[in-house]
Amino acid sequence: MADKEDAHVKMYKKEFHEVKYLDVKCPICNNRIDEYGYCSCGSGDS
Ligand SMILES: [Zn+2]
Repeated sequence: MADKEDAHVKMYKKEFHEVKYLDVKCPICNNRIDEYGYCSCGSGDS
């Protein structure tokens, strides 16, 4: 999925304080999911 890879690139180019986090926690690492629906552990693509 090229779109999802592109979203990851955008995420990693962003400073952490610039990323909006949703009020949803990742079931894998228990961190909050960001505005793109991705977590830094790489989950969210299933
Ligand atoms: Zn995670």
